[in-house]
Amino acid sequence: MNKQTIRDIDLKGKRVLVRVDFNVPIENGKITDDTRITAALPTLKAILDKRPRAVVLMSHLGRPKDGVPDPKFSLRPVADELSKLLGKPVAFAEDATSEAAVQQANSLPDGGVLVLENTRFYPGETKNDPELAKKFARFGEVFVNDAFGSAHRAHSSTEAVAHLMPAVAGLLMEKELDYLATALENPKRPFVAILGGAKVSDKIKVIESLLAKADKVLIGGGMANTFFRAQGRKTGASLVEETALDTAKGLLAKAGGKLVLPVDGVIADAFKNDASTKTISLSEDVPEGWQILDIGPKTVEEYRKILNDAKTVVWNGPMGVFEMENFAKGTNAIAQILADLTSKGVITIIGGGDSAAAVQQAGLADKMTHISTGGGASLELLEGQVLPGVAALKDR
Ligand code: AMP
Repeated sequence: MNKQTIRDIDLKGKRVLVRVDFNVPIENGKITDDTRITAALPTLKAILDKRPRAVVLMSHLGRPKDGVPDPKFSLRPVADELSKLLGKPVAFAEDATSEAAVQQANSLPDGGVLVLENTRFYPGETKNDPELAKKFARFGEVFVNDAFGSAHRAHSSTEAVAHLMPAVAGLLMEKELDYLATALENPKRPFVAILGGAKVSDKIKVIESLLAKADKVLIGGGMANTFFRAQGRKTGASLVEETALDTAKGLLAKAGGKLVLPVDGVIADAFKNDASTKTISLSEDVPEGWQILDIGPKTVEEYRKILNDAKTVVWNGPMGVFEMENFAKGTNAIAQILADLTSKGVITIIGGGDSAAAVQQAGLADKMTHISTGGGASLELLEGQVLPGVAALKDR
């Protein structure tokens, strides 16, 4: 990675302002999944080991109305949870824009930790307002961005603030960029990408970028249907994006043999787990009223053959409606294939969001080389875009 990290900079006696991604799910004031908090711990511990004067953390949480505080999205429960995980007190500042919060930070004991309230409670955050960034900048002499999941957004707490003091990457940010960027720039070949999920339109740029870089792109999920329709096939009641048909045709023409579509599918007579199902070859028409909800066993075997030769695999998007048990088999089978490949030394990288959830659901999360913590950010990297939160950090 060509950006400086916390390893490259002296933090002793400094006040360190850290942008983390503590955007955790909270129900009735309780955190239901603390993965994002634990993912930040290596960075926070490494910073604390460097004996800083104080560490001030900021993050967004959920989607409160822009600039309007909403107790439902308060970071207070996160500060409490972090205190348990770090085994030390963690203070909480209710209003990050107030003078009182700065005084609170300044009166922390040496090596003390303070969490600021949700950055999206303040007008200007999502507009990258430099004035708000100045308010955040009062809390530190060094800025560390460890919020990979927010790095694709130019917000005051991710981008503007990074211009106001020396700004470096945290360890999670470094790891994410190392895996995702290396996979794209200099992959061990053969490099195979697997793309699924609902829509072609969300992932056009990803497909284009991967067609240029990967040796094969395997397609699954709802997006395969749009390709089938673009080939003039009948897809019954399957999810198809009529508006993306021309794009799909264009991609098929450009791809040559690189783009691989499912050969069979599990079809259902309704969009529900207990619908009647059949497995059909996709050279046949899908009967009227039926819809494709998963890839079939022959496709899994075809994809296994291709994946068995791969040295690098990147996966984004489920192969079917994995939230329903009866249509999760294709996704689970691909997850298992990747887990087996990882154990043989293949580099397996899972984009964030639904694919990460699917791997977790399959109980294989610790069997992959890397699971990204950022859905949107990893997609933008796969598209070949520069992330504004990363661009603003100090070059090596
Ligand atoms: P995305 O956010 O684009 O990765 O899409 C993920 C969603 O696509 C999941 O909620 C899946 O249930 C859905 N999905 C995957 N395959 C299909 C399919 N064949 N038909 C309808 N939805 C699907």
